Amino acid sequence: MAEFALDLNEDQKAVRDWIHGFAADVMRPAAAEWDEREETPWPIIQEAAKIGIYSLDFYAQQFFDPTGLGIPMAMEELFWGDAGIALSIVGTGLAAVGVLANGTEEQIGTWIPQMYGDAGDVKVAAFCSSEPDAGSDVSAIRTRAVYDEAKDEWVLNGTKTWATNGGIANVHVVVAVVDPDLGSRGHASFIVPPGTPGLSQGQKFLKHGIRASHTAEVVLEDVRVPGSCLLGGKEKLDERLARVREGRRKQGGNAAMATFEASRPAVGAQAVGIARAAYEVALDYAKTRVQFGRPIIDNQGVAFQLADMRTRVDAARLLVWRASWMAATKQPFTAAEGSMSKLFAGETAREVTAQAMQILGGNGFTREYPVERMHRDAAIYTIFEGTSEIQRLVIARSISGVPIR
Ligand SMILES: Cc1cc2nc3c(=O)[nH]c(=O)nc-3n(C[C@H](O)[C@H](O)[C@H](O)COP(=O)(O)OP(=O)(O)OC[C@H]3O[C@@H](n4cnc5c(N)ncnc54)[C@H](O)[C@@H]3O)c2cc1C
Repeated sequence: MAEFALDLNEDQKAVRDWIHGFAADVMRPAAAEWDEREETPWPIIQEAAKIGIYSLDFYAQQFFDPTGLGIPMAMEELFWGDAGIALSIVGTGLAAVGVLANGTEEQIGTWIPQMYGDAGDVKVAAFCSSEPDAGSDVSAIRTRAVYDEAKDEWVLNGTKTWATNGGIANVHVVVAVVDPDLGSRGHASFIVPPGTPGLSQGQKFLKHGIRASHTAEVVLEDVRVPGSCLLGGKEKLDERLARVREGRRKQGGNAAMATFEASRPAVGAQAVGIARAAYEVALDYAKTRVQFGRPIIDNQGVAFQLADMRTRVDAARLLVWRASWMAATKQPFTAAEGSMSKLFAGETAREVTAQAMQILGGNGFTREYPVERMHRDAAIYTIFEGTSEIQRLVIARSISGVPIR
């Protein structure tokens, strides 16, 4: 088992510096433009693909880093560059993790490469779980998957919402109900291959932040996919459903929750990247902005805020790294340490970006400086991948053993 160490090794440092270079030189100069355009920054994704940052190989390498720090380190640097563009670059990863968590080796080998495409023809993927009436309450999912035995096909019908890359993805991963009597334990995940008839993009949402990342409804009307598109396969699904029906599996996760749990520390790391970026801008500004004849950082009121900001950023990173290391070394999350890291990092991003705006005064409120964008971007980190309230619920249940509602 890899020891928990706060020192990155030489390989990790080299990767971190390489990503940092891309974030500083390519993402940052483009950030304001793509935020204003509110469109997927395809040229930047292509640049990332050309140098290997947007590729299956790169994420696989980071994902299998035995220390667990590969993914959080990469996320922090990318989101330090710009959150909207970074989410466009890493959004595919959520769908890929869905396949990795539930798919067979053949499904992993077939579909994940098609999610990324290649440098000459980049593609993105979408993970579609949320629905208009099923956000935090995943058990309320209504999208239905019915098996057509004669044709060995599944027929999907329903409407998904808030899907990152929804409708523009090459491959969609869709969570659907296969047995309505079993609540969230009657769900399964399906691949919808490129160009499948019946899948269309509904409304594209205009958003408060992370505007370079595409978020839309996905409408499924009699979408037929081959039996091989059921993640994990029919035999495994039938066995699982039989166990649930017999009451042998009263507790435990489901397809969507497994995906969210695996990705929470990585989402926390994204929030750390945004918070660190805003803190750095505020620190520089406080040292150079002169009022009353001295730099504003000379005032304890400002300096102490910066001290708190830095403390929170470092504490958030430590929680994220601990959870990532625990996941990589397969240690049980007995106190919901993954949720803890996402909760604290998400709230840190919101608070630190707000403090940064305050330190920049009027400039912080304008689009001449990046902190107002960072503050808008940070707001999603207490909402998606489980709201802060849901993280608290998961932690509270975990530490108490009480089924708190
Ligand atoms: C930009 C963006 C991108 C997204 N990307 C994806 C994606 O790629 N794929 C996907 O499937 N989904 C995605 N989502 C959906 C996201 O995960 C949901 O918005 C989130 O889970 C919250 O669900 P909701 O919006 O329905 O809020 P609700 O569940 O309606 O919650 C509303 C409020 O009630 C609180 N609340 C609800 N239940 C409880 C409770 N039991 N106890 C205490 N408080 C509670 C919540 O914390 C929240 O404050 C995305 C959303 C956004 C905005």
